[in-house]
Amino acid sequence: MHFETKATHAGANPDDATSSIAPPIHLSTTFERAADSTPLHGYSYVREANPTQSRLEEALAAIESGSHALAFGSGIGAASAILQTLDPGSHVLLPDDCYYAMRVIARDFFPKWQLTHDLVAMDDLAAVQRAIRPATRLLWAESPSNPLMKVCDLVALAKIAHDHGALFAVDGTFATPALQRPIELGADLVLHSTTKYLGGHSDVAGGAVIFGGTGALACHERVTHVRSILGAIASPFNSWLVLRGIRTLAARMRVHSENAMRVAQFLATHPRVETVHYPGLPSHPGHDVAKRQMSAFSGMLSFRVREGREAAIAVVSKTRVFISATSLGGTESLIEHRASSEGPATTTPENLLRLSVGLEHPDDLVEDLEQALR
Ligand SMILES: *Cc1c(COP(=O)(O)O)cnc(C)c1O
Repeated sequence: MHFETKATHAGANPDDATSSIAPPIHLSTTFERAADSTPLHGYSYVREANPTQSRLEEALAAIESGSHALAFGSGIGAASAILQTLDPGSHVLLPDDCYYAMRVIARDFFPKWQLTHDLVAMDDLAAVQRAIRPATRLLWAESPSNPLMKVCDLVALAKIAHDHGALFAVDGTFATPALQRPIELGADLVLHSTTKYLGGHSDVAGGAVIFGGTGALACHERVTHVRSILGAIASPFNSWLVLRGIRTLAARMRVHSENAMRVAQFLATHPRVETVHYPGLPSHPGHDVAKRQMSAFSGMLSFRVREGREAAIAVVSKTRVFISATSLGGTESLIEHRASSEGPATTTPENLLRLSVGLEHPDDLVEDLEQALR
């Protein structure tokens, strides 16, 4: 089946008890047991599993072409669970441009977990080869990356990781499975902050790990153990909201991508704009790779304002349709001075603004940026 059909139907069987088409939300924290004390329907306690979360996980595995999925209370909770399965002494390769909290985890928590790491430009395959060590257990990619929209070759990175006995994980939050499915390209693990496009309405926090490929089964067991014992579980209500978001994901990503392309093309010709980072533009260094591994280029882009930090912040203060806020993936367009959001750990250029392009009419978005830049 095609993606759109899976996204509509996966995990959507009518309710056994009532035949309701919309799935029920099971808020129960505990489940009755049979006479021999075993669970009657496979459920026992909410921190281990619950029926609403199981529906979401069925849908996540289907739309990512994975074999299993686990839902979490946040994207970073899901990422941490993967890292917490690694043995002490393991080495991790992280992208030099990635979600900033990943670098903070590496700095503040890897030493306690006895993990080591290097940051590497994942779009430079020779650099990745050089950075791999005998102790490397995990190669972590993010494509497109946050906030510079760097694109890396997922097929090539999967091969490098597997040649060295490492797992290959991809943070696919910006692309979503509607546009890019890393497991089909060789990844073992896919991470999503479902807070973003999968939820899609800026009203739910969540994360997910989807498992595929060869190393998947053992890894799924270890991550399940981390989740149920360390506790970064998704709530039933949040699972339900993310599941609802998935139903419209394909349609939303089409419009997000079309609108972002319009905005990127406008910004690329504007005299106040120094650079536009959008993989849909032929001038983007990762455009050809993105064209191979993505079906469209998503709604995320960033650009640099020629006159520097203060001018960039001034642009944010002048927009009327774009709202000044962090996060992404909702129906409304957001604009953000990214270095301010990332705080002291930032490596983001001070003149960079990040856009999450929403579902408004593209003419209104372009006009808004035009007047703000003016
Ligand atoms: C937001 C985000 C995360 C973290 O997810 P939370 O749900 O905020 O914990 C990880 N990766 C990327 C690319 C993100 O945008």
